[in-house]
Amino acid sequence: MQILVVGAGVIGLAIARSAALAGHDVTVAEATGGIGNGVSSRNSEVIHGGLYYPTGSLRARHSTRGRRMLYDFCAEHDVAHRKCGKLVVATNAAEVTKVEAILAQGRANGVEGLELIGGNAARAMEAELSCVGALWSSESGIIDSHGYMLALWGELEDCGSMIAFETPVERMSPAASRWQVQFGGRDAGVVAFDAVVNAAGLGAQALARRIDGYPADKVPPLVLAKGNYFGFTGKAAFSHLIYPTPVDGGLGVHVTLDLAGRMRFGPDVEWIDHESYTVDPRRADAFYERIRSYWPGLPDGTLVPDYCGIRPKLSGPGQPQADFMIAGESVHRLPQLVCLFGIESPGLTSSLSLAEEVVGYLKP
Ligand SMILES: Cc1cc2nc3c(=O)[nH]c(=O)nc-3n(C[C@H](O)[C@H](O)[C@H](O)COP(=O)(O)OP(=O)(O)OC[C@H]3O[C@@H](n4cnc5c(N)ncnc54)[C@H](O)[C@@H]3O)c2cc1C
Repeated sequence: MQILVVGAGVIGLAIARSAALAGHDVTVAEATGGIGNGVSSRNSEVIHGGLYYPTGSLRARHSTRGRRMLYDFCAEHDVAHRKCGKLVVATNAAEVTKVEAILAQGRANGVEGLELIGGNAARAMEAELSCVGALWSSESGIIDSHGYMLALWGELEDCGSMIAFETPVERMSPAASRWQVQFGGRDAGVVAFDAVVNAAGLGAQALARRIDGYPADKVPPLVLAKGNYFGFTGKAAFSHLIYPTPVDGGLGVHVTLDLAGRMRFGPDVEWIDHESYTVDPRRADAFYERIRSYWPGLPDGTLVPDYCGIRPKLSGPGQPQADFMIAGESVHRLPQLVCLFGIESPGLTSSLSLAEEVVGYLKP
């Protein structure tokens, strides 16, 4: 089949690679001039264990399976990564109960390498930590996400597929068992495809509304939850990922490490109504307070505004966390079309597994 994948983020690239390996002729259309210019370059680059999500949900299934696939992929394709492990820390008795619930959820999800440890054992691993107990997750890690996307791009090109940059999809309509797709940009025009996957990230809902015949009530609301990061100017105090217990809309302001061992903190949760990518320095006060609950030694004046990313959520503040949404024909009644909505965290971790499921929706 001739398949169009819209969006060259980590999800679109993983789907395109999977479809190309299955023998399809794949084109990726990307509105910007490069790969991973959207949500995929504005995240924590953490390979998640798969602890937090309700058992059987897409997020639980694809993060655990996707994580195993991703480690194998990194080893085979020389993508820089490190299985450094993570501690989810409890700073008081109420948080111990929360950490125990996360352990139970993780075990129910089939996550390997989980263990509850006491405060002393946690401090033996990380001397600067203040906590009464922690959940150790040995399978969590970090990845060079751009290196990963480059490897996906390389593999799909090896299969004869390609990415068209600066080529936004403007409209689509079904005609004679195919999709007529109108492109803008450098090479504007109309091209027909057998099947289309909408992996446009923050643009997925806007694109779905421009698909002729797509039922308006099947386009889920897009809720924007910005995650701000602050860099740390001192010498790194930790060598494992350190997470507090989760908060509404996110996993809490955690310590993430890059592959050079540098520390940064974030993301927090800032509900916004339009895309904006500035980090307000005034948010530092709340960061100091939250981080000091588990790292009292955080020195004054060491946090500097870094970058931010926007989670394309399907649920808002105070609501139960929505799952990823894969909308195929059973949802919108249009054949050979799959739309992906709400692919927030852990989308990077889930990408290879999610890609296989999406390609399975397309029937030759
Ligand atoms: C703050 C934050 C932290 C996160 N941390 C982690 C983490 O540590 N681990 C993890 O597993 N996941 C994490 N995630 C989630 C992960 O980053 C995302 O799930 C993933 O990057 C989504 O990729 P995507 O390809 O769907 O979207 P994107 O990367 O945004 O790609 C979509 C692409 O579509 C293009 N596009 C849009 N409209 C059109 C159009 N009409 N025509 C052509 N192209 C179009 C855009 O330009 C963009 O390049 C985090 C997310 C956020 C926001």
